[in-house]
Amino acid sequence: MVNTTIKTTKSQEIFAAAQTLMPGGVSSPVRAFKSVGGQPIVFDRVKGAYIWDVDGNQYIDYVGTWGPAICGHAHPEVIAALHEALEKGTSFGAPSALENVLAEMVIDAVPSIEMVRFVNSGTEACMGVLRLMRAFTNRDKIIKFEGCYHGHADTFLVKAGSGVATLGLPDSPGVPKAATSTTLTAPYNDLESVKALFEENRDEIAGVILEPVVGNAGFIAPDAGFLEGLRELTHEYGALLVFDEVMTGFRIAYGGAQEKFGVTPDLTTLGKVIGGGLPVGAYGGRRDIMSMVAPAGPVYQAGTLSGNPLAMTAGIKTLELLQKPGTYDYLERITKKLADGLLQIAKETGHAACGGQISAMFGLFFTSGPVHNYEDAKKSDTAKFGRFHRGMLERGVYLAPSQFEAGFTSFAHTEEDIDQTLAVARDVMSSL
Ligand SMILES: *Cc1c(COP(=O)(O)O)cnc(C)c1O
Repeated sequence: MVNTTIKTTKSQEIFAAAQTLMPGGVSSPVRAFKSVGGQPIVFDRVKGAYIWDVDGNQYIDYVGTWGPAICGHAHPEVIAALHEALEKGTSFGAPSALENVLAEMVIDAVPSIEMVRFVNSGTEACMGVLRLMRAFTNRDKIIKFEGCYHGHADTFLVKAGSGVATLGLPDSPGVPKAATSTTLTAPYNDLESVKALFEENRDEIAGVILEPVVGNAGFIAPDAGFLEGLRELTHEYGALLVFDEVMTGFRIAYGGAQEKFGVTPDLTTLGKVIGGGLPVGAYGGRRDIMSMVAPAGPVYQAGTLSGNPLAMTAGIKTLELLQKPGTYDYLERITKKLADGLLQIAKETGHAACGGQISAMFGLFFTSGPVHNYEDAKKSDTAKFGRFHRGMLERGVYLAPSQFEAGFTSFAHTEEDIDQTLAVARDVMSSL
């Protein structure tokens, strides 16, 4: 048992009850802390860069509700806009002018997007884009990368392990083999493997979907030329290129990874930040492709709560806040300070580590690296990460409870928050 230096009585009580009520006590698996061990803490409220738990402990937060909180939690302007929108009702199930406003903002921001469809989650966005890429190309197979996450739809749940991966075996019971038999996988940053798949499956591959910067296998950046190479290969073989920017959209840059790296995909999925903390996802892209989506075209996709006024309002206000000059310079500066600092401390305290950062997204692996793909990431000392995570938590720093998740900052994080985090990290790493 780990020595807890913080009081967690209420968290423990609530989580024990939750486990009798909901599978694993949570509404989404990673929240249960399975991969780091120990009990999760139960949140009471969030504000700015901070979390308070039900026992009254305060933490500096680097999860940001898994990405959306790039302005900091409960930003006063977002909250005020929501109060106003609330008075007009929570859902219309009919067109509202707010959808036009957010759609225009997204189209202006993201290079590939000429038309957009709003949905309620990143998973839904990826499901929509999958059907659309198949319909547009009249091909069924897709290529995804090991360690990339595109939500929990059947087709995307293919085991990352190489042997099983090439067979397209499902990652979870309940996913029929037929659903994943069309999913081909390749190691991230490996253009040769992608080319080989295209050669073996000529005229059968609808497209390639990827996280343009990986966050769901820990933080992994694309090698120079990788995104450009995929753009060329997809052109060459008549397939679509899809960037899943659910995590990177409005985070890596205002226009996402496609703006940052200057590579324009055919289709893009969004989520997390564009909802400003409310459930929103979106997919968009070339007008000729998007025009196939119902009711403009035959590709069916719908949603009772899609484009609802509260979600649109939170999204609009969040993007407005991000447009303020200097926002991304600030995010880059503090996040670089954090990521560089963590690496330096690991080195000084004798731990093999590698990691990196782009804009407000960062990661640290307990392996000497370098990490170019999921296989490399899996060499990390996850037991050590678990001890590191617990040590940080007990000293007031909340990190994602897995070695294989990226970390997030917000513009509510101050230089002092970063300094304090690094001081805590030094303390914890010295005693690992
Ligand atoms: C979070 C995430 C998703 C899934 O989004 P949900 O809103 O959790 O359904 C899909 N793709 C990527 C890259 C993500 O980070």
